[in-house]
Amino acid sequence: MSASASDCLFCRIVAGEIPATIVHSDDRTVAFRDINPQAPTHVLVVPREHHPNAAALAAEAPELLVEVMRAGAAVAEREGVAASGYRLLFNTGADAGQTVFHAHLHVIGGERLGGMAQ
Ligand code: IMP
Repeated sequence: MSASASDCLFCRIVAGEIPATIVHSDDRTVAFRDINPQAPTHVLVVPREHHPNAAALAAEAPELLVEVMRAGAAVAEREGVAASGYRLLFNTGADAGQTVFHAHLHVIGGERLGGMAQ
């Protein structure tokens, strides 16, 4: 774990160096709209600290993983998808389709979701 990585896209969004549509921000997490949404609501929740994936986050800072999940639930409430249902998803590793190696929770909803994939 490190506080930030200069070559990490999501660290740069957290730092305000790359624009994003922020929907939630607190002292430990930031949430912003996915640039390529897969459903009417598609938000990414990231810890401000750099951890490469959810497994590393769980091992290195489990309390922060809880904060990320809590922020995801708050986003779902604010987006109006909590009652109808939504998906919380961590892609972990290349075979799962992880493309950005800063742990991020997908919050996906707003329609009937199919399958298991993002
Ligand atoms: P992954 O495939 O689980 O790693 O998810 C990475 C997500 O980041 C994908 O859904 C991308 O669409 C999204 N993404 C990539 N670049 C940006 C960006 O600059 N802003 C917002 N979302 C991004």
